Amino acid sequence: MSDTIFSKIIAGEIPCHKVYEDDQVLAFLDIHPISEGHTLIIPKEAAATIDALSDEASAAIGKALPRIARAVMQVSGCEHYNILQNNGVPAHQAVFHVHFHIIPKHADGSGLGIGWKSRDFDHGKGAEMARAMAAAIGG
Ligand code: AMP
Repeated sequence: MSDTIFSKIIAGEIPCHKVYEDDQVLAFLDIHPISEGHTLIIPKEAAATIDALSDEASAAIGKALPRIARAVMQVSGCEHYNILQNNGVPAHQAVFHVHFHIIPKHADGSGLGIGWKSRDFDHGKGAEMARAMAAAIGG
């Protein structure tokens, strides 16, 4: 994987406003926040998208996320927030190192806006797809 701005932040070559760090995870403030307290959580493992992340790094991120969310809530004063994780250019990914956004939704309306257009559900196709996914996961 090529070097990204986030691997440079992990290496200490570029500064960040650090919120949390352990041996596998780093969290810091987003430099172009969409609301006050917008925070990024990244694994130190270099993977571009979450499907490429190891079980170990995923577990470390999963453990850190709720703790960081509580800190974001406490300090930013938000009661509500979104966790966003983009994979691929059409899915709005700009930095190709896995990252989770914690985005406070404040009373002034700032935060993540979502265009969520639900579609009809076909139970036949859905059952087939769920079976195929379960087989793909294996175990
Ligand atoms: P995404 O569209 O999910 O790839 O989001 C990448 C995020 O990284 C954006 O919200 C940027 O504002 C943020 N970002 C880019 N460079 C930096 C940086 N040097 N420090 C903090 N956040 C950054």
